This record gives sequence, structure tokens and C-alpha cells, in this order.
Amino acid sequence: MFSFSIARLPRIEFGTGVIKKLPDIIASYGSRILLVTGASSFTNTNHWETLINQLQQHAIRWQHCVVAEEPSPKLIDDLVKTYANQSFDAVVGIGGGSALDAAKAIAGLIKIQRSVMNYLEGVGPELPYQGPAIPFIAVPTTAGTGSEATKNAVLSVQGEKGFKKSFRHDKLVAEYAIVDPDLLASCPPEVIAANGMDALTQLLESYVSIKSNAFTDALAISGLQAARDGLIPLYRQEGELQEHREKMAYAALLSGITLAQVGLGAVHGLASPLGAFYPIPHGVVCGTLVASATRINIQSMLAREPSNKALAKYLHVAEILCQKRFIDPQAAYNALIDLLVQWTNELALARLSHYSLQETALDKVIANCRGSSMKTNPIVLKDEEIREILLERL
Ligand SMILES: [Zn+2]
Repeated sequence: MFSFSIARLPRIEFGTGVIKKLPDIIASYGSRILLVTGASSFTNTNHWETLINQLQQHAIRWQHCVVAEEPSPKLIDDLVKTYANQSFDAVVGIGGGSALDAAKAIAGLIKIQRSVMNYLEGVGPELPYQGPAIPFIAVPTTAGTGSEATKNAVLSVQGEKGFKKSFRHDKLVAEYAIVDPDLLASCPPEVIAANGMDALTQLLESYVSIKSNAFTDALAISGLQAARDGLIPLYRQEGELQEHREKMAYAALLSGITLAQVGLGAVHGLASPLGAFYPIPHGVVCGTLVASATRINIQSMLAREPSNKALAKYLHVAEILCQKRFIDPQAAYNALIDLLVQWTNELALARLSHYSLQETALDKVIANCRGSSMKTNPIVLKDEEIREILLERL
């Protein structure tokens, strides 16, 4: 049977210079907005001054708040309370995943004035979210999380009793994603590395997800090709930077679309407890684990489920990323894993022990990794297989 369902997507404006369309798009929603930005990725650039001037010209009034780190439920609740009486017409998030996720959650809660803890997956009462959300416009300044295309805001409490969970609903999807690759120009190399590996991991995991379909597969392959061509040269700052930025912004956007539709896999399953218990940036978790998780997924399928359809997909990814044909599947798997290891090394992604994870703590990480992402991994991994993924990058 050839069938699939595609959930709501944002309207998308993509291309160098599309940021210029933002004031008109905002004006189509009204004249009062909340602007949520990251610490400096946007406000330190000329684009900020231009935007502020244009908002004034359009008689748009704004309040501005800064979200400088991965947002916590308390931060969201505080901001929702702070702006309770403002009757905004839209929330505009401009920044990396943290700013966009915060903006998305605020847009979902500001009208109903309830704590986000009511709705987070896996913690609290998990009440059904019914909205209404106010229009959210997403403007990414990094190429990684794909938050501009997803229906979830990831919120975390860091520490021993921490968690990293999603506030998720179709109503939270942005009305518009304004993806201007030029905004990536302010990204330092380590951010390009971590976010780029996040996008690559999201594309790979959604491609082999048990929920994947022909529609998302086509997007995932296109995104993987773009990441293959853009990531390393953009990190090295070599060649046509505008073209590399376009490729990575495109790969990240597509990764958000595919993950929102069909889910992720083992790397993102592990990213949840690792990011909750340790101060590891999300992209670093993805980059550091993607090679070992790919190896263990393939190894487990060969041993236990040799007819699993994802094996052929890994072979196809090997051909796409390595740009060659393979007669022998095992040679393809090895080449794919070697390439991922090579990128991880070149992009200088830290090992987990760098963030003080110790072998004695692995049981706790494994016990907390079977959330929504792990459920769409192409094979149900055993605890000892998950341990092997982590040990390889400890
Ligand atoms: Zn991710």
C-alpha cells in the first residue's frame, strides 16, 4: 500500500535576502508583536537595525525579550506571565533552536496563561493542549534544529533530577518560516559544526524511521545531499560561503520537516537524558553519537533482523554521502560509518566525558532514553547495545 499523511507545515520563504519580507509578513498579522531573539546572533548584526527601522515604518509596536540558553519551563512560564496583558498579534522568534523553541512555547501559552508543565511529554499531567496559540513566525539564524518547521518546543531542566522534554502540538507549528541563509554568517565554526551534525542526524534518523514514507524520504535524501556538500566547507570557511550557507539552511529546514512528520531515532533518544543530566549542547550530542549509533543500528539489524528495510536505506545513504556505488553492502556500511567518524573528528565534536559523564552513570542515561525519538528507531535496541553506542564516545 502506498499511502501517507502529512501534518501541517509552515508557509516557507527560503533564500538569501528573504529576511526583507519579514516586516510585511508581520504586518499581515497585526501591529503588536513580541520579538524573541537569542543572545546576540541577530541583534549584533546590521539586520537588527534594519528590522527595527522597518517595524517603525510599518507602525508595528514590539516588545523584545532575549533567550540566551536552552529554555526551561520556568523561563517560559515567567515570560508568559510577564507579557500576559499585551494582546500581541504574533510572536516572532529570531535565533537558534533555543530562541525559536521559547518563542513557539510562548505563542502557545500566552493566551491561555497556563503553565507549560501541564503539557510537557513524560513529566507532569500531560494534559491535552487545545490552544489557542497566537501566530508564530520563525526566523532561524543557525542551521541545525529545524525548529522553524517542527511542532514541538524542547524545554529542559538541567541537573541530576533534570529532564529535557517536548511541548508538542500541531497548533504550535509556525505560521511562517523565514529562512534566510545570510543570517548564518554570524555563526562561529563550533556552532556550524554542532548544528550541522544535528541537521544531518535528523535527516538520517527520519530517513530510517519506522514511520518514514515516500514523501519524507525524498526530502531527507535531498537534505542529506545538501549537508554532504555544505557542512565541511562551511565549517572550514572555504569556497563559496553563500552557497554553503544556503545548503546548510536548506538541510536544516528539511530536517525539521521530516522529523516533525516521521520522528527520529536512537541518537535523539539519548540526547534527551544526556542533555537533561549534563551541560552538553544538543548538536554536540548528535554529532558525537551519530557514527556509533549508526554502527550499532546496522550491526543489530544484521544480527537480529537481516530483512529490516532500513538496511537498504543505510546502503543508499552510504552511496549518497560517499558519492560512489557499492556492490558489497558491508563495504557500504563500513564506508558510511568511516565517513561519519571522519566528520565527527574534523568538526572536533567533544566526547561525552568532556562534560563529566562517567561510565557509572550510563545506567541512568539508558534508563531514561526510551522517549518518543527512540520509539521510531528502525530496530528496538537492547540496553547493552545502547551502552555500546555511549561507550564508544565516552
Ligand atoms: Zn536534533
